[in-house]
This record gives sequence, structure tokens and C-alpha cells, in this order.
Amino acid sequence: TKSVVTIGEVLVEIMADTRGDGFREPLSLRGPFPSGAPAIFIDQVARLGQKAGLISCVGNDDFGWLNIERLRADGVDTSAIRVHPDQVTGSAFVRYRESGERDFVFNIKNSACGQTRITEEGQLLLAQCAHLHIMGSSLFSFRLIDEAKKAIEQVKAQGGTISFDPNVRKEMLNIPEMRAALEMMLQYCDLFMPSGPELMLLTEATTEEHAITEILGLGVSGIVVKRGSEGASWHDGTQNLFVPAFKVAEIDPTGAGDCFGATFVTCRLQGRSIADSLRYANASGALAVGQRGPMEGTSDFVALDALIAGDAA
Ligand code: ADP
Repeated sequence: TKSVVTIGEVLVEIMADTRGDGFREPLSLRGPFPSGAPAIFIDQVARLGQKAGLISCVGNDDFGWLNIERLRADGVDTSAIRVHPDQVTGSAFVRYRESGERDFVFNIKNSACGQTRITEEGQLLLAQCAHLHIMGSSLFSFRLIDEAKKAIEQVKAQGGTISFDPNVRKEMLNIPEMRAALEMMLQYCDLFMPSGPELMLLTEATTEEHAITEILGLGVSGIVVKRGSEGASWHDGTQNLFVPAFKVAEIDPTGAGDCFGATFVTCRLQGRSIADSLRYANASGALAVGQRGPMEGTSDFVALDALIAGDAA
């Protein structure tokens, strides 16, 4: 069967239980939870019954093993996750401010995930890969950009397809080489999956319509725009298809875009129509925002079908 592969960071997330701005009192915390955009993505793919593998690197510590064990239990091939002997697994601390904004403290740049390399096990995974997913957040060093390029070239050479979620960290756009790497991914990918604001970040266009035309002109065959509580849309030059979101209470939006993307890609690989795939992806995003914890909000088809059936009733 066709496998989906992604490459990038694995980390843990620790979250504050209550809102606030300062640190006058010790906080009540939850976690560590398995996290990292590519890890959430690939976990969601596996939970839908698709063959899935992750190329990454963690430290030989509890945070690393917590992730490997969860991913394995959910069906992800973890053989290409390096366990680095003298680096630590990254972490993120997240808290809602009084204003409702989320505040993150990331520690990934100097963590084990920066040592991600395509090992022999990674080569084996890529040799069976029908679809490779690349995330902008994983391209935070020249070495990682290089590894991603190697993976893309191999998968394309064997007839596989590529999707790209820019998942932009704002600071990357200010570094010309990083921006160039993100723009280059637009040339490589078959499927582009930005959020609404990200659609406008990588071109000079000032309207969505122009951005879409420009990006399709680079050879991208389809664009899926994630539109939060508005749902999502598909654009391929001949059709523009909008599918509304499910109505749910937003509890924790972390991971929604990753679950959405994974579900769209998997549904397409499994032969579902674009409209059906968007509906399933919206359901997956909705269930993710309704659940606390980044990877805790991934779903199987039973849960997605139940949400869709409830909505139709
Ligand atoms: P990202 O997390 O990449 O910024 P979005 O915030 O657009 O992406 O979320 C991805 C998808 O998750 C949306 O396209 C939608 O299907 C679903 N989603 C996100 N927020 C909500 C919400 N408040 N209510 C219902 N669905 C949502």
C-alpha cells in the first residue's frame, strides 16, 4: 500500500492550566504531551489506517521516548527517527494570556531535531513513499533544507507526489535564505496547503485571486486554503470549491491545521473526491480544536464519520 512520509520536528508541549500573564505564583501545568507539527500530521495519517512514517531526531530521554511510543502505538513507522545520544528532545511551553492570545516558549532550535538526517532507515522509508509532506517550520537550518530537498527529489523521481504546508514562523520570513527556501518549496510541490494569511505571504500578489493564479502558474496542481472557523477551500484553476467548517467550541487550536492537512492528503490517496476530502479534513480540524493537547486531537474514521453524520442530521 501507498505510504505517506514527512520529515521534521518532534517535541513535547507543556501547557499552563489557567490563563494569565505573569509568573507571580507557580503555575499548574499539564503535560508533557507529544507534539511537533510533522509528528501530529503523521500520527493523524496513521490513525486513518494509512501507512505512515516519520524522519526525525529526538534525544535519548523521556520526552523523546514519549513521542516514539505514542507514534508507534498509533501505527506510525518510527524506524527513521534517530535517537541522538547527546542532544535533548525539544519542548514548547504554552499559555493563554489574559487577552486570549497564545504565548509559546519554544526550545527546538538547539534540540535534537536539528540533527535530523536521512539515515539508511530513512532511505528505506522514502523508497516506499507515495506522498511526501513538507512543513515550513521544519526548514529552520540549511542542513534541514538540504535533507528536505534530497527527500523531495527521491520521491518525485519515483513518481510520488509532494504537499507543502508553509506553517510559517514569522521570524523565518526576515531571513532571505529561509524565505527563498519556502518559495522554492512552491516550485516543488503538487499540493499547497497554506492558511488564509499564509496564502498571501509568499507572493507579491495583493488579492487572494492573484496569489492563487501566481502559485498555480508555478506548476502547483491544487491549493487547499485552511480558513479556521470558516472552513476550507480548493483551487485548481478550473474550480474554486468552498466547504464550511463544523460548528464546535474552540478549546485548543494547536494541531488543527496538521490534522486537517493529514486528513486531506490521506483521503485523496484513498481515492475520495476533493469535496469529500475537504469535508473529512474540516471534521478532523474541528475535532482537533475541541480537544486539549496537540496530538490528543487526532481522529479515526469512526469519529470523523460520527461528526459528519451528526451535522447532516
Ligand atoms: P492552521 O492551524 O494551520 O492555522 P486553521 O486554523 O485554518 O489552520 O485550522 C485548520 C482547519 O481546522 C480549518 O480549515 C477548519 O477545518 C478547522 N478549524 C479550525 N478552527 C476551527 C473552529 N474554530 N471551528 C471549526 N473548525 C475549525
